[in-house]
Amino acid sequence: MAQAAYDGDALARALEHDHPNCEDNTCDVTKAAAIGCYLWAAHLLSGATECEETEDALNDVFNQLGGKASFDQELELERQELLAQPHFECSSCGALIWTAEGEAFCSNCGKLVYRPEEPEEEE
Ligand SMILES: [Zn+2]
Ligand SMILES: [Zn+2]
Repeated sequence: MAQAAYDGDALARALEHDHPNCEDNTCDVTKAAAIGCYLWAAHLLSGATECEETEDALNDVFNQLGGKASFDQELELERQELLAQPHFECSSCGALIWTAEGEAFCSNCGKLVYRPEEPEEEE
């Protein structure tokens, strides 16, 4: 992972507090935090729910990064880093399942679903 330009520990602790013990394999927040993309995880969580500690920590990072331009740039980097993780779309509900396995029980709809075949390369 690229050298973080902010204090990830404070964000990690806030996320732990505001979104604890999540084992949902469709949860972007948990997946992002697990790979060290705390800023993107906190951004997603604060967009989805009330989370005072995470919002405070986000504000601190905003100041550490020196404002909106570098904050947005860092967010975008982490968003792309998350999307580069192995995942596939649930064929039943359309949620993104964060797994490298060929099959998974979707935490969103509870169904056993399979990774779609990679499309054949065109000659
Ligand atoms: Zn979660
Ligand atoms: Zn599903």
